[in-house]
Amino acid sequence: MYLFDLHCDTITRLNDGVRLEPNDRSLLLNAAQLALGRMRGENWCQCFAIFMPDEYRGRDAVDYYERSYRYFLEQMSFHSAYVEQVQNAPEAEAVIAQGKAAAILTVEGGSALAGDLGRVERLRECGVRMMTLTWNGENELGSGNLTSHGLTDFGRAVIPALEEAGIVADVSHLNDAGFWEVARLAKRPLCASHSNSRSVCEHLRNLTDDQFRFLAEHQGLAGINYYVGFLAEEAANVTFDHLAAHVSHFLELGGEDVLALGSDFDGADTPPWLSSVEHTCGLYTRMCAEFGREITDKIFWGNAFRFFS
Ligand SMILES: [Zn+2]
Repeated sequence: MYLFDLHCDTITRLNDGVRLEPNDRSLLLNAAQLALGRMRGENWCQCFAIFMPDEYRGRDAVDYYERSYRYFLEQMSFHSAYVEQVQNAPEAEAVIAQGKAAAILTVEGGSALAGDLGRVERLRECGVRMMTLTWNGENELGSGNLTSHGLTDFGRAVIPALEEAGIVADVSHLNDAGFWEVARLAKRPLCASHSNSRSVCEHLRNLTDDQFRFLAEHQGLAGINYYVGFLAEEAANVTFDHLAAHVSHFLELGGEDVLALGSDFDGADTPPWLSSVEHTCGLYTRMCAEFGREITDKIFWGNAFRFFS
């Protein structure tokens, strides 16, 4: 199995110690949902997000970003026998060929820019390859899905700056007005790193059919999110069939070359059968049985690989 996962919050969870013992901070082995040591031998490229909580703005946001980045670097260095940061898909393939996991650094929340366009260059320097413009609330770039207005002037200026820096604009977490503004401004393909289908599960964090079709028509990418609340409206007993319904619906919309995975590990409650990264192997087997190996391989690897090439 080759696995390319577009989103997890493990860096933030380990660095901030969310629901973990104080000394449980190693990316190699931990009690979080994702650990390098539990995926040894798998061919794996993982996007690691620096998640920006909505309470940090300006200087505090910059400090928070830099602290998280230092932690990410430290973990890459401590565990360099197991993982290596990469900038694109061919680099990921080369690292995987050496028996290591490939790590792509991303940012969840444009507040990491602190309203300063110059900080796009800092993110580029750090090797950040994708950034959601907002989280759920409002920031300098625009408003997330908790409100309904779109981008600010600064947010509109950020899109070409990201494209110039080779950083993918990630439209997950935006509200609909924001999505369509980004769609109108973007010259390069967009990614919704961890969002499901709103037709299957009515939630503002999920993509409408028109939004998904836009991604499909513009060489974009959309990662299936394992969060129970985005998979099913009744989040109590989420089964494989719930997840498969999102995949089926997206495939009906022409998503064979668009669909990928965006687990949201360590950022969301996931079903027990998908409670941590090693369960992804079981998901692969079930997806192959349901959708066939060719399509499953595209969802697990091929589409994201092409996009990040
Ligand atoms: Zn998220």
